[in-house]
Amino acid sequence: MDLDVQVTSNQLAQSNLLRQVLADVTPQLSEGKVATYIPALARVSRRSLSIATAGCDGVDASAGEASTRFSIQSISKIFSLALVLNLGRGEDLWKRVGTEPSGDPFNSIVLLEREAGVPRNPFINPGAIVVADMLCSILAEDPVKKLNELLSELCGSEIASDLEVAESEAAHGYKNASLANLLKSYGNLRNDVDQVLDVYFRQCSISMSAIELAAASRFLASDGYDPVSSKRVVSSADARRINALMLMAGTYDAAGAFAFEIGIPCKSGVGGGIVGIIPDAASVCVWSPGLDETGNSLVGRAALASFVNRSGLSVF
Ligand code: GLN
Repeated sequence: MDLDVQVTSNQLAQSNLLRQVLADVTPQLSEGKVATYIPALARVSRRSLSIATAGCDGVDASAGEASTRFSIQSISKIFSLALVLNLGRGEDLWKRVGTEPSGDPFNSIVLLEREAGVPRNPFINPGAIVVADMLCSILAEDPVKKLNELLSELCGSEIASDLEVAESEAAHGYKNASLANLLKSYGNLRNDVDQVLDVYFRQCSISMSAIELAAASRFLASDGYDPVSSKRVVSSADARRINALMLMAGTYDAAGAFAFEIGIPCKSGVGGGIVGIIPDAASVCVWSPGLDETGNSLVGRAALASFVNRSGLSVF
């Protein structure tokens, strides 16, 4: 179904559209596979499903289990990147991390050696580990505390990490440890490998609901300024850059297919959440824990395709 008219966030809040989107994809709920390489994530039910939108006009809407919190995992990478940019360290960052898509899985080690320890972008794991390293260098306090404060301010509720998930990942995080060691060997990690990994695992273990994540990422739809909390998170130029990177690299080696099928900047996490941005209109968050072979939520991806189709809200 293609609608000619684009709906407003007010219309979204008053209509059944989000419920219809969930009904469209419910038959696929048994298809995905919950991430098991982080054992604490394997306990989540594959049947969970939610969607939430946060409009630039401050009007929010949701359907399904939209208040249930889940592990945001790699979605945290947009907020750690925003924090480094907010702290005025963009120039240093873009010398240490690239702005190109990788076309590889999020935890791939192959390119990192070939490209002498400079990760392709801040959304693949080695890029996010460099961002975590920068936060360790810049901030006197715990970077994850700062991240949780930013998120709490943006969504209006108390946000925290789930240390059981962080410990579970740390106990099995051999690939991330190898990426961090490789970065260190190329001189692209300034702090202790263990310290940086601890920050990275705790940022990934932050727990939020679809409603909270949509609200927390609304600033990316409104030129870097969140109209609800009256907080400028990043400059409008940096908001544009983060959106561009999300479109090219936010869903890893499926980013091309996401752009083709959905057509909005997206950032996914292996907890099954995906955040999407419709510039000047709204942010949207979907959650369904079953993943496809690229580590993106299988039903979440289908739900976003249905959402842009039904609402007419898209970049292209
Ligand atoms: N913590 C996860 C990892 O490093 C995040 C990956 C993801 O969500 N894509 O493997």
